[in-house]
Formats: sequence, C-alpha cells, structure tokens
Amino acid sequence: MQVSPLAKSAVNEYISRYGTFPTALVAAPGRVNLIGEHTDYNGGFVFPLAIERYTVIAAGPKEEDPQSPPTATFWTDSFDEEATIPLDRPVPPEDKVTWMSYVAGTVAGCLEKGMKASSFNAVIRSDVPLGGGLSSSASLEVAVATLMEKLSGSTLEGPEKALLCQHAEHAYAHMPCGIMDQFISAMAREDHVMLLDCRSQETTFVPMSNPDIVVLVTNTNVKHQLSGSEYPERRHACEEVAKILGVPLLRDTTLEALEAAKERILAQENGEVMFRRARHFLTEEIRTRNLCEAMLQRNWKTVGQQMYAGHQSLRDDYQVSCPELDYLVNKAYSIGLNGGMIGSRMTGGGFGGCTVSLVFRHALEAVQEALENDYFARTGIHTTSFATRPAAGAMVLPTP
Ligand code: ADP
Ligand code: MG
Repeated sequence: MQVSPLAKSAVNEYISRYGTFPTALVAAPGRVNLIGEHTDYNGGFVFPLAIERYTVIAAGPKEEDPQSPPTATFWTDSFDEEATIPLDRPVPPEDKVTWMSYVAGTVAGCLEKGMKASSFNAVIRSDVPLGGGLSSSASLEVAVATLMEKLSGSTLEGPEKALLCQHAEHAYAHMPCGIMDQFISAMAREDHVMLLDCRSQETTFVPMSNPDIVVLVTNTNVKHQLSGSEYPERRHACEEVAKILGVPLLRDTTLEALEAAKERILAQENGEVMFRRARHFLTEEIRTRNLCEAMLQRNWKTVGQQMYAGHQSLRDDYQVSCPELDYLVNKAYSIGLNGGMIGSRMTGGGFGGCTVSLVFRHALEAVQEALENDYFARTGIHTTSFATRPAAGAMVLPTP
C-alpha cells in the first residue's frame, strides 16, 4: 500500500521530535470526483473515489503536570509549524482561518461527543497537495477524527464522523462545503467508487475492480481569478428554477418538467442562463446513473461517453470550465479508446484545477506524455499528473 512510505516518514519525524515511538498512527485519503459535478447543493448524486494520497498522523502521550488540563500539540510538515489546544473543552472558532482551524474544529467536534483523550503530541504529514482540489482539508479533518477515535477508545459511525468533520470545515474554516469530501475520505472502500446521494446521505459502493484500469488525475496548474460571485450565482440560478417549478430542490424535478417549463423560465430576467444551469444539473444526474451502470457492466465506451458529455455540459451549460481544462479533455478525446483513453472530464469546482480520466494501464505512460506535450505546446505550462486506483478510506495503521 502506498501509504507506507508516508507513514514511515511520519513515524521517523515523530521519533526525531519527541524521542519516543508514537503509539497511534492514522491515515485518511484525498479524493477525486468521477462524475456528478455541481450537484451536491441541488440534492443530487456525486460519484467520488479516494486516491492513494493521504494525510498521516503519528501521535503519542505527552508528559504534563497531571494537575493541569490536558492539551494536544500538533506539528505539520506542510507549514513546519506547531500549535497547541486544550483537550478539556472545545475551543471556539476564530475569524482568522489557519491550518489549525481544521484541526481545532475537528477536535472540538470530538470533545462535544464526549470523546476524552489525555495529553498528546502529534505529527502531521501529507502527500495530498494543499489547495489542489483533491481535498487535503477533508483528509486532514478525517485523519484528526480518526486519531481522536483511537486515542479516546470510542468509535464514530462513518456518516457521523464525516458530518462532524464537515461541521468543523463550516464552523472553523468558514467554508460552506458539501458532504462529499468528508464522506469519501472517511468511508471509501478499496477498488470501489462511492455513489453518494447528497440528499439522503445514502452511500452505494460500485466496484471498479479491474486492476488494468487506472484513474489519472492531471492538474492544469492554473487557477483563474474569480470575482467570488460565480458559485453563489450558479447556486442561486438553480434555486430560482426549483422555485419556478414548485419543488424544494432541483433534485425533485425531471428534465422533462424543465423542458415543459422552458417558456416560463425564458420569460424571466436572465432566464436563458437559468435554464442552462438547471439543464446541467438534470442531465448530470442522468449521466451519473448511466456511468454507474456502465461501470457495473464494464461497458467502458459508455463510461467514456458520459464523462465527455459531462465535460461539455460543465463547459457550455454550467460554464465553469476554462481553455486549459478544455485542451486536456479535447486531447484525451483525440487519443480515444484505441489509444487506451476511456474518458476524461474536468473535476471539481472548475476555472482551473484538475481533469480526471480513466486510462488502461498499459497505455498510461503514453497517455500522460501525450497530454503533457500537447498541453505544454498550447499553454507553455507543464501539467502534473498521477495515476491511482480507488483507495480505502480512513484507517488506523499498526505502530512500529
Ligand atoms: P483542498 O482541500 O482542495 O486541498 P482547501 O483550501 O480546502 O484545499 O484546504 C487547504 C487547507 O487545508 C490548507 O491551506 C491548510 O490550511 C489545510 N491543510 C490541509 N492539509 C494540511 C496539512 N497536511 N497540514 C496542515 N494544514 C493542512
Ligand atoms: Mg478542501
């Protein structure tokens, strides 16, 4: 398992900082979403998998005056910084967000659940790129919650743990994220993709067991400056259409109902855009189901078609793509099934970030090289990419 070298380095770091072996070792993965984009806030489906990139934490008891309240000290490799929080009570959120906000928020959530721990030191190491759209933040939260489970001896149910971590991100990092990132990091299964119903919070694991197929994540290494209104505007457009259709969420309607109400929607100010935003969501729901079914049947051609169609919809109807993402997806399309490329699309919020592709392993190197060369020729920017199989969710590892 690829988590081992990282875990070893966390253990070594712990030993060199504290002079003893850690007594707890945990890991939680980052994630990538295969399809179901901009669907969570409409109560729709997402289809993420955990990647073989993890946040690892090594921890052990800290000697302290038994009279004083217990504390936890965290050090992170990513910032080479240390911070300490009390463990006798949850610390309140602060306006200023730092890396410690994610940690403190998660610890607070655990303390509120009555999970008690004695004073400890912890070393955090991660190979999930920070801010790269692969959810380093959720993997950090879920790793901290898993550590608190191990140290307190109590366990959290998967969804309970994911929601606790999501709450930490909302309340302490002031990031109003959906439930996908924490659910997949906490609950992922090796060789499976998770179909998550964002409304009912129900999960279904779809096997992706063929080891000859890998998930390729390619970073455009661009992030376009946004005004900040892009996401709220899209969300608002979806809510407006739901209102016109008389349903609480777009999830509660169909593409047919949307088409039937087209005239009414177009009559609104900005109606054309509203219609397209809703059409993206409703067609994405269909694509997500189609992709799941095709994956179960190992019908890779259909899987690929759903991915390309999903990209087009994000580009044209939802308008969250950018030229760089389009270059990568167009090149993937031209490589085609014969070249070992099953399908490709942008993943994440958009306006930069990564594409996700499914690739036959035998063609992986050739595909990576073709994407890199074509992208560099067009943009003068190098891609960074890595391949992964669907990984397991948060885990407690054996200590040395
Ligand atoms: P993403 O989740 O897409 O990687 P975010 O902006 O949501 O990007 O989260 C990144 C932030 O999460 C970082 O700026 C940092 O505050 C925190 N973070 C994630 N991983 C670590 C880590 N290993 N150590 C410290 N902080 C981390
Ligand atoms: Mg994040």
